[in-house]
Amino acid sequence: MRWSQDGLMVPTNIFEAATLHFAVQVECSCKHTVRFEAHCLWWHFYRRGWDDRFAQARQRFWCRVCGSKLRRKVRPIRIQPVPEGQHDFELPWPDVRTWKQAVRRVR
Ligand SMILES: [Zn+2]
Repeated sequence: MRWSQDGLMVPTNIFEAATLHFAVQVECSCKHTVRFEAHCLWWHFYRRGWDDRFAQARQRFWCRVCGSKLRRKVRPIRIQPVPEGQHDFELPWPDVRTWKQAVRRVR
């Protein structure tokens, strides 16, 4: 986690995005963007043992639009926290106990 210039907490990984109520937006150079609900995305990474820091997590995504057009996997150019919204894409949610255990570990 880091602090923005105006004194707000800014998440630097998916877990922090979830605890700070951000969604995670993934952006491709073709302008296609996808927003993920962060608790769900964290759970997706956690179960696979993937590094959820934004810089590392970027390597786990590829653009579906470019994928169907170019028939190859195109990595996103940017992954960043954005305010939670109604249209964030939800993967399966972690169960409440697993989530609480994860939160306890970092406090
Ligand atoms: Zn693309």
